[in-house]
Amino acid sequence: MTIHAPAGIDWAMLTDEAQRHLQALLRCNTTNPPGNEYLAAAYLREQLQAAGIEPDLIEPSPGRVSLWARLPGTGAQRPLLLVSHTDVVPVERDQWTRDPFGGELHDGFIYGRGAVDMKDMLALELTLFLHFAQRAQETGQRLSRDLILLAVADEEDGGAHGMKWIVENRPELVDAEYALNEGGGMGMDIGGQRVYLCELAQKGSIRVTLRARGQPGHAAIPHADQAVARLARAISRVTSAPLPLHVIPTARRFIQILVATQRQPQRGMLAQVVNPLLSDTILARLPDQRVADGLRAMLHNTATPTLLHAGTALNVIPGEATVKLDCRIIPGQTAETLVGELRRHIGDPAVAVEPEPMSPGYEMRPTPLFDAIQAAIAKEEPNAVVAPYLFPAVSDSRFLAPLGVTAYGFVPHQPEPGVPPVQALAHGHDERVSVANLGFGLRVLYDVIQTISE
Ligand SMILES: [Zn+2]
Repeated sequence: MTIHAPAGIDWAMLTDEAQRHLQALLRCNTTNPPGNEYLAAAYLREQLQAAGIEPDLIEPSPGRVSLWARLPGTGAQRPLLLVSHTDVVPVERDQWTRDPFGGELHDGFIYGRGAVDMKDMLALELTLFLHFAQRAQETGQRLSRDLILLAVADEEDGGAHGMKWIVENRPELVDAEYALNEGGGMGMDIGGQRVYLCELAQKGSIRVTLRARGQPGHAAIPHADQAVARLARAISRVTSAPLPLHVIPTARRFIQILVATQRQPQRGMLAQVVNPLLSDTILARLPDQRVADGLRAMLHNTATPTLLHAGTALNVIPGEATVKLDCRIIPGQTAETLVGELRRHIGDPAVAVEPEPMSPGYEMRPTPLFDAIQAAIAKEEPNAVVAPYLFPAVSDSRFLAPLGVTAYGFVPHQPEPGVPPVQALAHGHDERVSVANLGFGLRVLYDVIQTISE
């Protein structure tokens, strides 16, 4: 592996700085709910003010503070948003071996809730923002576009006190050509090939209730028309086979790039996963089922049962049983398509399929920002590839997409031996990031910002 080191930048010093910011941010307990993001915003403001930059604090409700700061460029191009969220999900404290709010460093890893989701990115963005600000002050050298640092509250609980509020009430703050946010950037080793995922698309989400009805009665005299049994059959059908295939351009390009890097027989198999006749069989037989699960989510609407409800007493057969499905919809598909797919899959008219309003997904085009990301990764790892990625979950980018901002998810993160992947650490126990990865992230993001702002 080569280390790319543009002259004049002390990467060790910048990495130390990012590490210090990350540790301080992890010590702010911004567990959402309740949030208390003012703690992180106060730290950020202090750092920016020390550099002579006065940020804007946005507080739609008490304590729910987002921070916005602008570093003016020449104005030749439209701004780049450096997006992050400052809130984190709750912890099960007894499952951690380190203090989740201690910002502790052990064996080269910084531990804490938010270490990879996403105070790491915030620390990188802050460090680079301050670096470009200092460079402008010292040399007069300006980027071709404004850099906007936007650290928002409330991402983990829907964004009503964060990005959603900002987009609805102060859209001028996010008037930009590009945004870098969470949702991708992790490296994966697939069949011996290092692949970095660059999130260009995001699935929509919708909750669906399945409601099964049957005959009530005494549990001592079971009969054939029971709501619970009917619901169990429906759940079994929904979970035992994927819904129909929907291939969007992002997924097609992802698979093409993957295919080009693989050896036989994986190469031939992967090429056929977009074939509706073979897709399910091939995915079931892929040697790496983690990859198969990821591909399945990129190619199908999904429905995952999570909340079950039936019954009031042990000896009463309930007349109704329900399950809530967490459904994720391929961009371009509608709630009606999904409901139709579920009805056909379940095949029982006595099970009602009741959708709630959908939050739509989106698909971005590859742009010069994608090329810049590819070039930055190539400098670090010439043998790695960057693949466009359909993120199956949601991020705040869903609020930016309708405004025409090209928002990519890319938090650069190298896989490390013996360390769980980012996808497992995020929201998991002992969430942590290595100092080495902070350095990697800084170099890659520096390069990306520099390339698209010349
Ligand atoms: Zn996040």
